[in-house]
Amino acid sequence: MIKASIISIGNELLSGQTLDSNRAYLSKKLLGIGVLVVSGYTVSDNVDSISRSLHQSSEDADIILVTGGLGPTDDDVTRGGLAQYLGVELELREDLLEKIASYFSGRNREMSETNKVQAYLPAGTDALSNELGTAPGIAVKAGGKSIYAMPGVPSEMKAMFEDSVLGVLEALTSGQAVVVKKLKCFGTGESKIAEMLGDLMERGRNPLVNCTVNKGVITLHIISTASDKVEAERIGAEVETELRGRLGELIYGSGEQSLAEVVGKQLAARGKTIALAESCTGGLVAKLLTDVSGSSEYFRYGWVTYSNEAKTKELDVSAELIEKEGAVSEEVSKSMALGAKKISGADYAIGITGIAGPGGGGKEKPVGLVHISVAADNNIESSCFTFSHDRNFIRYLTAQTSLNMVRLALSR
Ligand code: ATP
Ligand code: MG
Repeated sequence: MIKASIISIGNELLSGQTLDSNRAYLSKKLLGIGVLVVSGYTVSDNVDSISRSLHQSSEDADIILVTGGLGPTDDDVTRGGLAQYLGVELELREDLLEKIASYFSGRNREMSETNKVQAYLPAGTDALSNELGTAPGIAVKAGGKSIYAMPGVPSEMKAMFEDSVLGVLEALTSGQAVVVKKLKCFGTGESKIAEMLGDLMERGRNPLVNCTVNKGVITLHIISTASDKVEAERIGAEVETELRGRLGELIYGSGEQSLAEVVGKQLAARGKTIALAESCTGGLVAKLLTDVSGSSEYFRYGWVTYSNEAKTKELDVSAELIEKEGAVSEEVSKSMALGAKKISGADYAIGITGIAGPGGGGKEKPVGLVHISVAADNNIESSCFTFSHDRNFIRYLTAQTSLNMVRLALSR
């Protein structure tokens, strides 16, 4: 199995001034040709650091991609770092000097002395041509490792990678394929999922199952490696079946699907409609649902009834009920959902009431307390949650949870 490592060079990457988009681009490209990136380093513009990172990368990778530090200024020392790693001197390459000179003369600009350093390459290495700038890239095979140093400027790096590197790597790795499939889960925590998956998440397995979490949505990445794509897909599908068996309804979709998209698809497929009565989410559920194109097919009405008066006037929630139970209560969320369903004539309606904070919480009803009800024909279901973190997070998780409740109601 041929593996890769990526080294990003530049003080601005370490200080956080520039986000390392080169790494993301290269990792994706490598995955596309079946090569897993097994390590990566971000290092300063320093000869020793660069040389050291090349030694580290060569410990676990066969292909090493380096970006940055090929410019003409004193802080661009990738050439020197590579020469030190290889144990060779930098040599002036007349052909490169001519090319750089003609780059400037072609643009009616004078070449400065500092640009000359870009014509120096470590002895025994090859130049990669740079159609968009002056800095040539460097290619070398040393100790069984294929090393490519490319510019830091993203547009120059991409052009060089696609013109001169990708084809060579494709030929090198023709006997392997990596396929990644993502499954989306909602409704429990990361650690619970890991517990349910048990052995399937063991390191070193193929397919490898990785888990990431973002605002309550858990993404399982099934990474399958094989000698060709068909076989990688086959072993990936086997693990997917096993995962689905263990997680059941916790899996709501795949790829980049959102909960709102999945709920929308379910509603459209069944010819059903939905209405919303929101309070603490302030219309967020309506936004998430209508972010999906084609949502007019199933989205009926959305109310943001923030005040007690609005709940009574718009949704027929009785003032006595609010007085007796409080606006944030199971009874009021139920009454909101029932009112929204009745007035809109929709098949499903959500009622949400809660305390998003940071103020407004008490001992009995703390910040993060949320009641969500989903009304369907002849059936109403309510749940109570206590979410934590900040206002934004509480509101977002509430909205997503309400959509998840509709998803589960629709799959029954
Ligand atoms: P080159 O090798 O092309 O001369 P360099 O690193 O020597 O690149 P810099 O001036 O340091 O030249 O960087 C050029 C530009 O490219 C800067 O705007 C820098 O922020 C950006 N850049 C460098 N590395 C990366 C990276 N890994 N991801 C995104 N942008 C980057
Ligand atoms: Mg740099």
